[in-house]
Amino acid sequence: MSKISHVIPEFVDSFPMPMSPGVLYVSTMFNSCGHLCCCGCGNEVITPLSPAQWTLTYNGRDVSLAKSIGNWTLPCKSHYWIRNGRVDWSRQFTESEIRLNQKNDQADLQALDRTPTSQPSFWERLRRILPWS
Ligand SMILES: [Zn+2]
Repeated sequence: MSKISHVIPEFVDSFPMPMSPGVLYVSTMFNSCGHLCCCGCGNEVITPLSPAQWTLTYNGRDVSLAKSIGNWTLPCKSHYWIRNGRVDWSRQFTESEIRLNQKNDQADLQALDRTPTSQPSFWERLRRILPWS
């Protein structure tokens, strides 16, 4: 398989088995996205959507994910952004950068855990990603 340069969104309840390359599956039910690693290695990448993890934007045609997708746990260790459906490749991180990154992620999650937030309802979450609703 070759590198994927563009992903199209598909809104689903749960992720299909197997996933198709070049598709970014968005599950509002599980608040997460799933896709096959864009390097073409075929590994599934699940990105949970939350303020401390990934944020999804949908402009009616294409999706963007922030932050970048760093597949540190995969053998390929690929690192890229999905911006307006385009896959923008980032440089690979060094081992120490990866460790630092994982530590920061951990801290973000813990900070969020400590902040008592009222969880938005399912419909509020849906409205955020579906502009027409
Ligand atoms: Zn890969």
